Amino acid sequence: MESALHHLSIYQAHKLLKEGQTTSVELTEAVLRQIEKVEGLVKAYITITPELALKQARLADEKILRHRKAGESFSPLLGIPISIKDIICTEGIRTTCASRILENFFPPYDATVVEKLKEAGAVIVGKTNLDEFAMGSSTENSAFFPTRNPWDLERVPGGSSGGSAAAVAAGECLGSLGTDTGGSVRQPAAFCGVTGLKPSYGRVSRYGLVAFASSLDQIGPITKDVTDAALLLSVIAGHDPKDSTSVDYPVPDYLKALVPEVKGVRVGVPKEYFIEGMEEGVEKAIREAIDCLEELGAEVVEISLPHTKYALPTYYLIAPAEASANLARYDGVKYGLYIPASELWEEYRLTRGNGFGPEVKRRIMLGTYALSAGYYDAYYLKAQKVRTLIKKDFDEAFEKVDVIVAPTSPTVAFKLGEKVEDPLKMYLSDVFTIPVNLAGICAISIPCGFSEGLPVGLQVMGPAFGEEKILRVAYAYEQATQWHLKRPPL
Ligand code: GLN
Repeated sequence: MESALHHLSIYQAHKLLKEGQTTSVELTEAVLRQIEKVEGLVKAYITITPELALKQARLADEKILRHRKAGESFSPLLGIPISIKDIICTEGIRTTCASRILENFFPPYDATVVEKLKEAGAVIVGKTNLDEFAMGSSTENSAFFPTRNPWDLERVPGGSSGGSAAAVAAGECLGSLGTDTGGSVRQPAAFCGVTGLKPSYGRVSRYGLVAFASSLDQIGPITKDVTDAALLLSVIAGHDPKDSTSVDYPVPDYLKALVPEVKGVRVGVPKEYFIEGMEEGVEKAIREAIDCLEELGAEVVEISLPHTKYALPTYYLIAPAEASANLARYDGVKYGLYIPASELWEEYRLTRGNGFGPEVKRRIMLGTYALSAGYYDAYYLKAQKVRTLIKKDFDEAFEKVDVIVAPTSPTVAFKLGEKVEDPLKMYLSDVFTIPVNLAGICAISIPCGFSEGLPVGLQVMGPAFGEEKILRVAYAYEQATQWHLKRPPL
């Protein structure tokens, strides 16, 4: 039993803790041993915090003992080893955003989601690798090193939350928090054969999340299965007075949504998501997953989301525009890298020139251009209008169907280096995930098979604040299949 502790789901580990069959220290030690064994190959972490983790685990064990003696139930996260994407602030733990400009940044406060994890008693194992400032789809844009896909070390884990997805797949933590601005939770989850949920915009507080594109960013769970995603979401969701974009809706107990039953549920299949350029093996796995849902009693309907083809260009105006504004704060004055010079403009030039990597600079330039006088109406304003049309497509679709299913990504994990020279190719990796962020709705990616030995992800999209719907369909599919139980042969 003990040797496989790191491969347990959160829910399974919680059961063992409840029954007194294991301890948080044992779980944490198992995870730390697995990190020691595979981290040299996978490189999922920027910072590992073993002492802190063991200290938190000992405290958790004391609490668990008290709860058990009193016959009380306790949070399913109490004593569970979790990792956090290194763009979410952790008090006193280095938070780099995988950027040279924040290489030595130690936040003086916790993000709200981290506060919530700590309150629930989670054990923090470390901070995971990402594309610099979450800009990318492969984790190769990390200023430090690329992460590798545990299913094939020659391939990327996806991005930008590639470290989180790889760590979960490799058993280097039991669950993780990633962020999703255009697909960064779902696409790496798909590439690594795990589950990733992008909550509706406003469902989870962004306070303490280093901003990339503020109208799109959301924090979401990356886990081994749907139950764990529901569980983590229940803990991190909710209104936060410190984030005015977080919405004051009650947080349902998402575990209750997990009934393996889809009879009569209307599932939309958008014809625009089955495009040329999609890998054959991916299309086959997705079609089979749709057939499976139909066999389970779902009503499958073809639908149309006519503005889908404009999503990618729209995103690449709005996201860089917001990024160029958000990243203006890294001027060497307040925090982060500072390179002194004899004159202020020279200081800015040196600090930003050396601190940011090439993709971040590209985004800042694109965004600054799109926002500049004379171009604002033609680019940024136009993009905002098209964004509304994309949202309308979904509004109309959700009048006819309960959820929409599609591939998470048109391909399986690609080789390291395959797309770094061609940003447009890299951007195309997110064509199926980006519309969800533009519309502010929710979606989950779950494993649905393999193509050439690599995991394929099925995306289930739902209306804004319809997390229970996507969780239910995802759970029913998961329970009818075995894909989520597959582990990479590391
Ligand atoms: N890959 C997309 C980008 O590069 C999305 C990133 C994200 O969701 N953070 O912008």
